[in-house]
Amino acid sequence: MELRRLFIKANNELENNGIRTRSRKITCKKCQSLVAVAKIRKNDFVCPECGYYFPVRARRRILMLTDKRSFVELDADLESRNILRFPGYGEKISAAIEKSREKEGVICGTATIGGMKICIFAMDSNFMMGSMGAIVGEKITRLFEYATAHNLPVVGVTVSGGARMQEGMISLMQMSKVSAAVKRHSNKGGLYIVLLTNPTTGGVDASFAMLGDITLAEPGARVGFAGPRVIEKSLNQELPEGFQRAERVLECGFIDAIVPRNQQKDYIKRLLELHEVPYE
Ligand SMILES: [Zn+2]
Repeated sequence: MELRRLFIKANNELENNGIRTRSRKITCKKCQSLVAVAKIRKNDFVCPECGYYFPVRARRRILMLTDKRSFVELDADLESRNILRFPGYGEKISAAIEKSREKEGVICGTATIGGMKICIFAMDSNFMMGSMGAIVGEKITRLFEYATAHNLPVVGVTVSGGARMQEGMISLMQMSKVSAAVKRHSNKGGLYIVLLTNPTTGGVDASFAMLGDITLAEPGARVGFAGPRVIEKSLNQELPEGFQRAERVLECGFIDAIVPRNQQKDYIKRLLELHEVPYE
């Protein structure tokens, strides 16, 4: 009975990660192969058949990057409100809470990586496509302020469709608010490593996603400001192959490295060591 419960829980989790489930196997969205749930989980949510990167929930992302049981969440209780009384926003927030089982689109806290203490945030695409409203901006700002006060590096994982339009100008001002906090952290010598995942776009791309001292990306991740269709229409020309994909963005010099999912923890650990982050 317990096993059955665990299996249902694992399936729900995968469903939340955007994967259609069929009994104990799931269908990969890209290659359509039927792959065992356990196999996908074991493979860091990468399809063993075609290498497709399944989206990963924020909490799991933190687990994948940090030392076991080291994560302590900060500002867990902050929740969004429909401050502008935007029609239907209240219902959207409730639906996002139910879908993601989180109160907002970003999880923040402290943890250790290879025994070195860090501040970490991870965005969640299940919460309104990781869009940045007042609470997302506030939580990340507070995290940078905490890191500045305690001389800690920040590791951030981004995934976002951009600013949350239902919050109008309030969501746009989060861009400058977070950027200012990143700058204060940087002025004090703080290290900020950011990992861009698919997709990192809009207001998040135009602010703290692009302000890392070291910018990493997952293979194939879309990184850009406006969507390709908008650009294509406004320029009235066809966009080049691989436009806004991490590999192309790397060639253009906007990011420092593309790191496969199964190497990310070790890669970030090595970067922290190189920057002489003290062991706890
Ligand atoms: Zn596949």
